[in-house]
Amino acid sequence: MQAIATSPGRANSVRIVDLAEPSGSAALLPAAPGTEDPVVEVATVEVGVCGTDLEIVHEGYGQAPAGQDRLVLGHENLGRVASAPAGSGFHPGQLVVATVRRPCPEGCPPCAAGQSDDCLTGHYTERGILGRDGYMAERYVERASFLVPLPETLTRVGVLMEPSSIVEKGLLEAEAIQRARLPWAPRQAVVCGAGAIGLLAALFLRLRGLEVTLIAKSPADSLPARLAAEAGARLWDADDHPIDRLGTELGNIDLVFEATGVSSVALQAISALGRNAVCCLSSVTAGHRTVAIDTDSLNLNLVLGNKLVFGTVNANRRHFMAAARSLEATVRRWPGLAEQIVTRRVPAAQFAAAFDRQPDDIKTAVSFQS
Ligand SMILES: [Zn+2]
Ligand SMILES: [Zn+2]
Repeated sequence: MQAIATSPGRANSVRIVDLAEPSGSAALLPAAPGTEDPVVEVATVEVGVCGTDLEIVHEGYGQAPAGQDRLVLGHENLGRVASAPAGSGFHPGQLVVATVRRPCPEGCPPCAAGQSDDCLTGHYTERGILGRDGYMAERYVERASFLVPLPETLTRVGVLMEPSSIVEKGLLEAEAIQRARLPWAPRQAVVCGAGAIGLLAALFLRLRGLEVTLIAKSPADSLPARLAAEAGARLWDADDHPIDRLGTELGNIDLVFEATGVSSVALQAISALGRNAVCCLSSVTAGHRTVAIDTDSLNLNLVLGNKLVFGTVNANRRHFMAAARSLEATVRRWPGLAEQIVTRRVPAAQFAAAFDRQPDDIKTAVSFQS
């Protein structure tokens, strides 16, 4: 069966390869301890492309599975069960998404507890990214414990599940930390960046009843601005509304979600925090850019305002389950809105177009069933 693969580190090496078995067959993990954890085969519907995929394709990030010279791409998956053993909890035709990260061989405490997103050793693997074949294949296999069932209502937006899980994890953690340390009744949120992650963060924060301001380099008539407005959020152009002055414009900012992919913005985002506020950093910034900052002010600000900054990456099954509920609530509350985040669908045979970013792209998906 056909799959889209690349040789990490070799330029222009994305290609269609022919797999003898569904993607992931060669390196299935043993069943979760104490369970049968059956293997489920999934027919891929579509797979989203994000900055990580572009880094793998264009900048040599990523790692092929042991003993292979190529990596099957794709981590933002959506599929339908092709076959599942009786008693697996899954049935043919069922809409599903698979999580991305797999536990480290040492079985560190977070990995052993099903939280490989918080792996301590760093020896985890990731499907479609690090050492494990991904989901850009006609079919893939996975253990039931890494699969999440989805309702049919998510058919058109299920490809946004993986980015949604990242957002949901960040928000759940922010809420848990804040509730543990103070009476937490947030009203005002700022989201930096209006890509798929930023827009999903805005939607999930609106669901939670917060006022939301997106800060991005997008004009007022752009698609992200229109989508934000439809959900009762506003999008402000970053050039007209400097981040460090947002507090004066908006009042006390209780939560900042940073998703621009630019580290200097992430640092500035901290300065927008109001009293007792929390800042969730989610940008993976792989470069080495430097910037001069007034460390006295930054420190004083954090200390005197009881402010909290934390980073978040990846997501485990619990976050995927919560994200499915949020995405479903989004579809119910604003019908047709979330699916506009998927701005391009490219048939698998024309895969090259999917890795060629266009100015108006928000989320591009590679379709395996058209
Ligand atoms: Zn991604
Ligand atoms: Zn681990």
